[in-house]
Amino acid sequence: MNAAYCQTILDILPQTQLTDRRIGRKHVVMKLLKLVASVTMAAALVAVAVVRADDSATNNPASKPIPYPLNTCPVSGDKLGEMGAPYVFVYQGQEIKFCCPDCKKDFLKDPQKYLNQIKADAAKQQK
Ligand SMILES: [Zn+2]
Repeated sequence: MNAAYCQTILDILPQTQLTDRRIGRKHVVMKLLKLVASVTMAAALVAVAVVRADDSATNNPASKPIPYPLNTCPVSGDKLGEMGAPYVFVYQGQEIKFCCPDCKKDFLKDPQKYLNQIKADAAKQQK
């Protein structure tokens, strides 16, 4: 919605209020137009929400992913950040950080194995 469009609405609004009192039918038309506008807005919001859900690649898009508990890459075992910024990926609501995108490919070959390994390593860290 640009400024010119907003200005147009502001120009129309006082006239609408005038016609409201005189002609009931125009009022109904305006109501319908408002309804259509709000439905269109709602549809746009839903579309945005769906796109975001796809982006995060998680089964539970409403909640935040569980933070990655380690400071090492689960695939290579390398310390994160040593080869530049870690590659962050969310798998089934669990955030995972890799040293590089190649490690994500390896992870996806056997996700459960690496998820178990992350859990085991996180438990070790807490001791
Ligand atoms: Zn790597």
